[in-house]
Amino acid sequence: MSTQVQTTLRSPEAFSLARRAVEEMERAGVWPTPLNFELWVHYLGDPESALGREMVRLLGAGDVFTEGTSEMLAAEYLPRGRLSEEIRDAGAVLDRELSTVSEAIAKAQKSQAAYGQTLAGASAHLEGESAPSALIGVVAELTQATTFVQKENATLEKRLKTSTKEVARLREHLEQVRRDAMTDALTNLANRKAFDEELLRACDEADKKRQPMTLAVLDIDHFKRFNDTWGHQTGDQVLRYVASVIGRVSKAPRVAARYGGEEFAIIFPGEVAPLVEAALNSIREEVGTRALRRRSTNDELGAVTISAGLAQRRPGESGSSLLDRADEALYASKRTGRNKVTNGERLETAA
Ligand code: GH3
Ligand code: MG
Ligand code: MG
Repeated sequence: MSTQVQTTLRSPEAFSLARRAVEEMERAGVWPTPLNFELWVHYLGDPESALGREMVRLLGAGDVFTEGTSEMLAAEYLPRGRLSEEIRDAGAVLDRELSTVSEAIAKAQKSQAAYGQTLAGASAHLEGESAPSALIGVVAELTQATTFVQKENATLEKRLKTSTKEVARLREHLEQVRRDAMTDALTNLANRKAFDEELLRACDEADKKRQPMTLAVLDIDHFKRFNDTWGHQTGDQVLRYVASVIGRVSKAPRVAARYGGEEFAIIFPGEVAPLVEAALNSIREEVGTRALRRRSTNDELGAVTISAGLAQRRPGESGSSLLDRADEALYASKRTGRNKVTNGERLETAA
């Protein structure tokens, strides 16, 4: 989904966009299926996008908008469809390379077998032969056969080289597709899907290594008010800014992600709660003391503050239970005034 549409769907305009989508579908005489809804929301939310322009064209042409049309548009323009198409294409290229290579190998095997027969024939022929003219004939025949096999081998080698290159290119491309699928487009941090996977992995690793691990969740304070005052574009700039501060202190093995709209999460493998609490407080202070300016107009926006909660994993605890406890700590920060970090461990001893 384009970032712009994603943002609009979490903004005050969200419901009016959704209503408009339904009205426009009715006007165009298409059923409000989930797929059509998705298409219309994208098109109305970002009419200048490739999908938007194509839909304007199709609707303008007055063609009947069938389910096939919707499916084609979805495959072409919606991110999920594009991903599976990339994977399908990659599969086709691999197929082609594999069959080219196995054909070449089969052909080379045949030539080798024929060569073996030529050698065996020559040796049978030579038994009991000693006339120089006969020897010359046999040698000439062998030379020719050898040259032929060498040529075949060279061809095979060349094909293998081309294939290896093509497969390496493909692997790189798929790696990029995989990275894109795991990255939040607005902030370049890991997205929620990637984070959920990382969280499982980190829990496993903590058990294996018998080491501690701490989880933090962070949320921008009163961000709705900020958006309402300054607009979503500016809100997006703030999200990027906060993400950049979080990203900077989350070098590996730490993992930071945009977990939701204006919510972030960080995994701290091998780290105990008091150290994480200190790290979060330094993020909180850095963000909260920075006077922000709107890039386009240089307007002073003041500062935004963030609240955070953290929980240290108990041995054997699941990722989701850990996340729940970190969330509880975050809400304690919100309840007790915001611009605050709450250590869930202390919260529970206090309770
Ligand atoms: P709190 O301090 O309790 O967290 O208040 P809040 O207003 O931050 O929380 P609430 O959950 O009520 O609203 C979150 C807001 O975050 C709503 C939406 O305007 C904004 N938001 C969510 N995702 C995005 C985004 O991608 N871009 C922008 N600009 N704003 C977003
Ligand atoms: Mg918030
Ligand atoms: Mg929130």
